[in-house]
Amino acid sequence: MNERLFKAIDDRSDELVQLTVDLIRFPTINPPGEAYRPCAEYVGARLRKLGFETEFIRAEGTPGDTDRYPRVNVVARFDGRSPGACVHFNSHIDVVEAGEGWSVDPFAGVVKDGRVYGRGACDMKGGLAASIIAAEAFMEVFPDFPGAIEISGTVDEESGGFGGVAHLAGLGYFSKPKVDHVIIPEPLNKDRICLGHRGVWWAEIETKGEIAHGSMPFLGDNAVRHMGAVLQAFEDELFPALDRKVTRMPVVPEGAKRSTMNINSIHGGQTEDFRPGLPSPNVPDACRLTIDRRFLLEEDLGTVKSEVTDILDRLKRERKKFDYEIRDLMEVLPLMTERDAPVVKAVAQGIVAIFDREPDYVISPGTYDQKHIARIGHIYDCIAYGPGILDLAHRPDEWVGISDMVESAKVMAIGLNVLLRGTATG
Ligand SMILES: [Zn+2]
Repeated sequence: MNERLFKAIDDRSDELVQLTVDLIRFPTINPPGEAYRPCAEYVGARLRKLGFETEFIRAEGTPGDTDRYPRVNVVARFDGRSPGACVHFNSHIDVVEAGEGWSVDPFAGVVKDGRVYGRGACDMKGGLAASIIAAEAFMEVFPDFPGAIEISGTVDEESGGFGGVAHLAGLGYFSKPKVDHVIIPEPLNKDRICLGHRGVWWAEIETKGEIAHGSMPFLGDNAVRHMGAVLQAFEDELFPALDRKVTRMPVVPEGAKRSTMNINSIHGGQTEDFRPGLPSPNVPDACRLTIDRRFLLEEDLGTVKSEVTDILDRLKRERKKFDYEIRDLMEVLPLMTERDAPVVKAVAQGIVAIFDREPDYVISPGTYDQKHIARIGHIYDCIAYGPGILDLAHRPDEWVGISDMVESAKVMAIGLNVLLRGTATG
C-alpha cells in the first residue's frame, strides 16, 4: 500500500543526490559562518517551487553575526487542505571545517561508489535533502493531506545553535500551535531513533598566583602548580568516580553510558606566541582550565558542579595560598523523549516497514538542537532521525550513502503519513 510513496521517492533518487551535491557545494563552514545566506536561499527557493511559504530570519546580534557573516536561517511551511498537526523537519546547514586528510575536494560534492562525499554530506546535508524529497513525494501522493509540513535550514548548530534554532525558538517558531512534531535528520544511522542527549556543563576554572622573576620563583606564587594540584585531584578522585556512574539511557557509543569529563584546554603564564623570540622569565599569576562535563539523566546539575567545587574548596583549605574562581560557560540538561511519544512511534513504523525490524533507540553522547526545541519551544515530541552514519561526522572523506538517503526518505515519508494522515499504509 505504500508502493506509490516508495515509487515517488525512488523516482527522485537522482534529484536527491543532486540536491545533496548542491548543498555540499555551499562551504557553510562554522566558524566563521561562511555562505549561510546563499545556502539558506537555495533551500528556500527549492521549497518555494513546491509551494512552501518561505521566510528568511537573520539572527542579528547573536554570537558571530556580522554583515560579512550574517546568521541567516530559512523556515518553510506548506499548509495542507485542512487543519491538522504540523510536522517540522529541522536541519542545520552549517558544517565544521574540512581539516586535513581528504582524498577528494571536501566542497565539490563528489559522487562515487554509491556515495556522496563532502564536508557535511553525513552531518547533515544528506539528511536535509532526504527530508525535502520525503516531503515532496508525500505531497505528490497525498495532495489532500491535512495539517502542515515545515522544513527549516538553520545555522550555528555546531557552535551551540544560538543564532539558529535557539533564536527561532525564542521567536516562537518551535512552539505549539505552530508545530507539533519535530524530526531532526542528524546522522544517527537510518535504522535508529535518537531520543535525546546527555547533559553538558562547561566551566572555566582559574587558579590564582603571584607574578615574580622566574629566577626566584619562591618570591611569587605559581598558578600553574596550583592547577597541577587540581588536575591531580581530578585524576585521583573525580575521574574514577565519574567512571562508576552508569546510566539507564541508551547512549551510544557504549563508553558514553558513563559520566565523562574532558579537559578542553589549559593555559597558564605567558602566551606561546613569543616565537621567533624567547619568553621572559616570569612566575605565572593565573592558570585557566576549561572542562567539558557530560552528565546523565540520573545526575542533577547541582551535584555535577559540587563534585568539582568540593575538590577546589578542599584544596583551598589544605593547600597554602591556593585560590580559585570558577565560571559557568554552558549548561544543558539531559533530554530523553519517551518511546511512546507520537513522533517516535511514527518513525518506528517507517523503520519496521523499510528494514523489517524494530529500530534501535539511542541517545546521543553530545547535544544537538533538540535542547532548544525542548527548553525554549516546549516541544517534547522531538527526535533525531537521519541517514548519515554517526561515526563519519566531522571526519575526512565524510560521505553519505545514496541508498541510505533513499531508504531514510521513505521512513520519513511514512512518518509523515502516520502523523498527518493517521496511517502507515494507506
Ligand atoms: Zn549535526
